[in-house]
Amino acid sequence: MKVLKFGGTSVGSAERMKSLVALIKSNEPKIVVLSAMSGTTNALVEIANALYARKNDKAKKLINALEKKYESVLKELYSKETSLNKGKELVKNHFEFIRSFTLDMFTANEEKAILAQGELLSTAMEHFYLEENGIESVLLPALNFMRIDENDEPDMKYIEENLKTELKKYSGKKLFITQGYICRNAFGEIDNLKRGGSDYTATLIGAALISEEIQIWTDIDGMRNNDPRIVEKTFPVTELSYDEAAELAYFGAKILHPTCVLPAQKKKVPVRLLNALQPQAKGTVITEKTPTDRITAVAAKDGIIAIKIKSTRMLLAYGFLRSVFEIFERYKTSIDMITTSEVAVSVTIDNDSRLDAIVKELKEFCSVEIDKNQTIVCVVGSFSADKQGYALRILDSMKNIPIRMISYGGSENNVSVLIDAKYKKETLVALNKQLFNL
Ligand code: ADP
Ligand code: ASP
Ligand code: MG
Repeated sequence: MKVLKFGGTSVGSAERMKSLVALIKSNEPKIVVLSAMSGTTNALVEIANALYARKNDKAKKLINALEKKYESVLKELYSKETSLNKGKELVKNHFEFIRSFTLDMFTANEEKAILAQGELLSTAMEHFYLEENGIESVLLPALNFMRIDENDEPDMKYIEENLKTELKKYSGKKLFITQGYICRNAFGEIDNLKRGGSDYTATLIGAALISEEIQIWTDIDGMRNNDPRIVEKTFPVTELSYDEAAELAYFGAKILHPTCVLPAQKKKVPVRLLNALQPQAKGTVITEKTPTDRITAVAAKDGIIAIKIKSTRMLLAYGFLRSVFEIFERYKTSIDMITTSEVAVSVTIDNDSRLDAIVKELKEFCSVEIDKNQTIVCVVGSFSADKQGYALRILDSMKNIPIRMISYGGSENNVSVLIDAKYKKETLVALNKQLFNL
């Protein structure tokens, strides 16, 4: 069994939905994971925001506009009356459901139910299109097997058991279509795997079934050596180790959901990044194979908050770091980067929802300084400790940029540097030039 995930652009128009057929119709058994059509989840977020703000007229206008877009896609997608009618019924039902939230109070659970509509629509639309073209497929409801626990972590045991139970219902079937991104939470409510989560759905399914391969089809030919949205010249990296890919995804390479590499890595399932617009391109393969001695790629993660914590006692007493970290643990706020000195520790976080409470507790025994709007630039590669020169090359490229924190040696795969967000582009361009001669 292979798992193939297609992102928003790969199902972003009737034309793209049609061209998917060539990529999935072979007789090999496969599970196809689809995202919402590009722009849909953003539009649903906008609708939910309007509902939260009690701007129901605005919400209704946004809902109408999105529904119109879907109606026009249907006309282009289907050529037979029966499929078109099925599509119309589908769209009508989903938009009636979304519209029902304009009548009453709006809650966080309802927001999640709204955000799920994009993937429910795209998968059913593709399923009807396959049916119209005589290709048999099974629409597998992700809400029957994809689940997160009370810590918002995937419930692997539940996923494995329930996915296998679902598949058993269709013995002999080869092509399954399911929704990316959406899941249930520990209370059985509709939830999601966070933005970009369809990649995570694919790797969780791939790991649950120990599949032959997980393919992530998107709009670019593989992982590039630098962020193509920011620097002009980049090249695809043909081979990555799981560790390298995980660091790049976590530190901002948008092509992969931040934590989606881990399930594949645990079960040693290869992940291939491919371009749906250019299916012949080689892309990137992610496996255990660890290339030694190279600088592989650069990524950047925005929205970082730096917290400088200084002990109010003269010397760093033992137990100080534990007291600091306990506070972050209690507020379920994970730390990305750490640097320490004799009397101070600086950490970074990317989630400020509990920041006020954290600072209040820290101030009971420390002085605290906060810097918002920071960016972590992460240089990923294989830097074994007995090889010299990597840190020097990286820092030399950044000699004109004010550096707030540096982290080196935490793993053999990453050198991270914290800078003010306003220096991000300059930094990525400088690293491209010096490290990759681009
Ligand atoms: P999908 O909708 O298919 O999930 P995404 O937009 O989430 O696609 O991810 C693909 C995009 O990721 C690319 O179009 C590219 O702009 C962006 N990206 C950021 N960093 C990288 C990188 N290092 N390599 C490749 N793509 C990257
Ligand atoms: N549709 C969701 C999003 O836009 C999930 C995904 O595309 O992976 O975030
Ligand atoms: Mg994505």
